[in-house]
Amino acid sequence: MNVYDSGRMADVLAPLGYVQVEAPDDADMVILNTCHIREKAAEKVYSELGRLKHLKNAKEDTGERMILAVAGCVAQAEGEEILSRAPYVDMVFGPQTYHRLGEMVARAGRAGDVVLDTDFPVEPKFDFLPASAPPMNPNKASGNEVSSAFLTVQEGCDKFCTFCVVPYTRGAEYSRPGADVMAEAKRLAATGVREITLLGQNVNNYQGAAPKGDWGLGRLIAEVATVDGIERIRYTTSYPADMDDELIAAHADVNELMPFLHLPVQSGSDVVLKAMNRRHNADDYRRLVDRLRVARPDIGLSSDFIVGFPGETDADFAETMKLVEEIGFIQAYSFKYSPRPGTPAAVMDTHVPDKVKGERLAILQDRLNTQQLVFNRSCVGKVMAVLLDRPGREPGQLVGRSPYMQAVHVDGTGGTMGVIAGLRITEAHANSLTGAPVEDYADAPNRAHERASA
Ligand code: SAH
Repeated sequence: MNVYDSGRMADVLAPLGYVQVEAPDDADMVILNTCHIREKAAEKVYSELGRLKHLKNAKEDTGERMILAVAGCVAQAEGEEILSRAPYVDMVFGPQTYHRLGEMVARAGRAGDVVLDTDFPVEPKFDFLPASAPPMNPNKASGNEVSSAFLTVQEGCDKFCTFCVVPYTRGAEYSRPGADVMAEAKRLAATGVREITLLGQNVNNYQGAAPKGDWGLGRLIAEVATVDGIERIRYTTSYPADMDDELIAAHADVNELMPFLHLPVQSGSDVVLKAMNRRHNADDYRRLVDRLRVARPDIGLSSDFIVGFPGETDADFAETMKLVEEIGFIQAYSFKYSPRPGTPAAVMDTHVPDKVKGERLAILQDRLNTQQLVFNRSCVGKVMAVLLDRPGREPGQLVGRSPYMQAVHVDGTGGTMGVIAGLRITEAHANSLTGAPVEDYADAPNRAHERASA
């Protein structure tokens, strides 16, 4: 979502004459768009600011000025602290304020004021943002043609998982009206976008206003699938308890919806899940996965895990490992529990020693990496639909994404950028695949894996 938000900031700043550049050196303004989800992410901001201070000073030595800004969730959570730890910062503003960026830049630029804006708005910012411009492809000098784009449809969270800062930094759940999302999807398609990833902190609880009653996410996906040019749809991130029948049915009915779902479970222990204030237990999650597999037999699942949540015992961790074995994730993210200021779990008195967290994380990641490799290897010999969207490191090489989000490399002989190519997978690696173009590849590209495995 920060990638998407940064794009919207660029849209707001464009009328003021700002264009995006590749590197901070010599820039007139640098905005760090930050994440507060774990302590590591937040700490990175301060080390990055230390480096940028030198660039700012160097620019000032030549008689020019660099506006240095911190945006996003660290700004929201630590506004005052940033200004006292890094007094050379000119602007600090939270995720719900960037439609006011023009005004902030004027104040910081003209008057040299220090700007701090971490208000949650009375009116949602989407009502004031300009229509999004074509997304920039950071890998392409020419800028404008990207084939895969993010589209925020929902923001904020009302779930209050006891480990999580998101409800405090992004605010309450808000869904953009259906018509707004459709207009943005059409604009993206018109610029050559073939794949849209619908974004939200709780994207599957989307409830967008529409003339004949609110749309849920299943309905929204079906609508976006009707947009000319949109061949692939994804959505992230989902809260398991909010997967409704309509959305599960969309996995069966909407051909454009990719057979891949990121569905964070966090833990396999019911005791831990309860302490986390998750509204699912491990069996609920198992049943949900079963239903998704009935709807879309070739679906691949991904998840997030937290190890070492306060009170987690060896037996609890064993439950997580058991769930991992049973589900067979094709990809996953896993983290040591990181206490976040202001969250209920941070003040629990049963913290797990860091050494134990580290040991559990290593065991879990070893298993998850193996599952990913096993899945990648199972793709060898199959034909997969790959949306080629960026140049590779080697000359002539292109890289794209399979339906399962795997990076697939192909040499330039058969592929065209921005096109969904049929590639026969020749090699599998831990984090990527290699493929070769298939001559007579044509129909139903999104079901290619299913057909190949049938
Ligand atoms: N909405 C998602 C969460 C997305 S946040 C959900 O309901 O599951 C991204 C991931 O960061 C989370 O899934 C979680 O695994 C991790 N995370 C969040 N807070 C954390 C913390 N305090 N310590 C460690 N990992 C955390």
